[in-house]
Amino acid sequence: MTAVVVDPDVCVLCGLCTGVCPPNALELEPEQLRVLDHCTGCGWCIPYCPVGALSGGRARPTRRRHA
Ligand code: SF4
Ligand code: SF4
Repeated sequence: MTAVVVDPDVCVLCGLCTGVCPPNALELEPEQLRVLDHCTGCGWCIPYCPVGALSGGRARPTRRRHA
């Protein structure tokens, strides 16, 4: 699956990412952020998370690790 992954230990439930997803695939619930099935894995939302809780997808990560 190519959907993004939310790290629930890192996510602060700010809801910021839900407003930037083009197909509205992020849903803020009272106690978790849910990635819906129609997430395309485009990776667009990843750099918008202020705490780095989103990862995965099929796009390249925006923050590259130094090898
Ligand atoms: S990877 Fe793309 S489709 Fe999936 S939640 Fe993020 S912005 Fe939305
Ligand atoms: S922007 Fe980051 S911290 Fe805020 S709800 Fe989305 S994943 Fe969680």
